[in-house]
Amino acid sequence: MQKAKLALKTSPTHRSIVSLSDHTTIGGDDLLIVAGPCSVESAAQMEAVATHLSATVQAFRGGVYKPRTSPYDFQGLGLEGLEILDSLRQRFHTPVITEVMAIGQIEAIAAHADVLQVGSRNMQNFDLLKALGQVDKPIVLKRGLAATIEEWVMAAEYILSHGNPNVILCERGIRSFDAYTRNVLDLGAVVALKQITHLPVLVDPSHAAGKRELVADLARAAIACGADGIMVECHPQPDQSVSDARQALSLEEMVELVQSLRSIAAAVGRSIPFKAGVSPRLSLVEV
Ligand code: PEP
Ligand code: MN
Repeated sequence: MQKAKLALKTSPTHRSIVSLSDHTTIGGDDLLIVAGPCSVESAAQMEAVATHLSATVQAFRGGVYKPRTSPYDFQGLGLEGLEILDSLRQRFHTPVITEVMAIGQIEAIAAHADVLQVGSRNMQNFDLLKALGQVDKPIVLKRGLAATIEEWVMAAEYILSHGNPNVILCERGIRSFDAYTRNVLDLGAVVALKQITHLPVLVDPSHAAGKRELVADLARAAIACGADGIMVECHPQPDQSVSDARQALSLEEMVELVQSLRSIAAAVGRSIPFKAGVSPRLSLVEV
């Protein structure tokens, strides 16, 4: 970490709290739970996600510019998808996160979404990182498919040094030799980053696991080891997802997961906020 300047902690208690919207933050005592489909597919799909989860999670996700391995696969709804996300964030008073793949997409995404995500495949797209340094919105920086912790921190340093202090790191698994899990979730990196940097650390167990039956336990482990939040893929009809169907939770499973995280959060001195003005559907279960 020799050359990092802005990402490093200056004291053991130094931590940055990043605001996604007026009432939603990551990096403080409150955890951030982000949920939604891999891809925005339709207004009806996103409406179902938001209706079911708005009292449970703090932010929605959904890709509209999709980095697909095959050029023949669904590439995302683009601007139409951004308009769906924009309507959702306003009606449900919930911030939305979506991926930016190119400098030319920044202006439209920043106008319609609360947080811009740099995907794994673009972690070292340095021109994109420099441009995001000039954006007045938080950036979720996913770990590259095979990036070292140092390369990842230096990628964050690009955004920070170009003027944007609101960077959230997201561990999403790294490539290894075993294809049983899609990637290997590196929780050691989460612990290390919490010691080295003051930036919030989010964990995406969905792209790490690649299989829905592994996601909830990995999410619980992430919170237990000090992550500041999780980002999980879920869908009203998981098997019908146009992308990443195999790793998608149902909306009911997503609610159950968040419920199970509350006691783990409390054990590590964190909490999952209930939305102001929204009657929490889980409270009846808990008392
Ligand atoms: C995603 O979050 O939809 C995504 C493409 O993730 P990653 O960049 O981690 O593969
Ligand atoms: Mn995905």
